[in-house]
Amino acid sequence: MIFSTSQDNLLRTVLLSLLLMVSLSVCNGAPNRKVTEKPKVMTEQQHKANPYYSRTVTTTLTLSDAVWKKVLSPAVYEVARHGSTEQAFTGKYWDYEGKGTYFCAACGNMLFRSDAKFSSTCGWPSFFETVRSNSVLYRKDLSFGMERTEVVCGRCKAHLGHVFDDGPPPTGKRFCMNSILLEFEPDKS
Ligand code: FE
Repeated sequence: MIFSTSQDNLLRTVLLSLLLMVSLSVCNGAPNRKVTEKPKVMTEQQHKANPYYSRTVTTTLTLSDAVWKKVLSPAVYEVARHGSTEQAFTGKYWDYEGKGTYFCAACGNMLFRSDAKFSSTCGWPSFFETVRSNSVLYRKDLSFGMERTEVVCGRCKAHLGHVFDDGPPPTGKRFCMNSILLEFEPDKS
């Protein structure tokens, strides 16, 4: 096919614009999701299969792997007990901005307040501090050739995610969590 100079220039401009649009969408990282759905709220009463779940009892839980496998959903069990990580930008809370409290999905322990949540481009829900200092525990994680700090639930020791030192003030911490291990309860107002 033969193009005239003006057609050639037009074609070149169109192709360059398309290339620019594609590269911008790739660099941006986050999918183009403009509307944030309101996550389905799980109440304490909906955890009938898990007798250890409580949003008020703070006693430490020491249960066998077999018991956890029985009382948790397969998806929650996989992350909580095997340390799996959900895919970035897929969890229900990574860009959620509701006002309320986040609890551990495995045991009901209170973990984070929405006031401590910040907009992070990493694709996982991120917080700069926990509700209480003993809400979580920390473990050194040397997997995948990296040195990271794993964050586990302070009550049931479920794997929640990792904490990094590149968060915003006032703490400078970034608690990078798996949405599937979090349950949100909106503030009553
Ligand atoms: Fe827990």
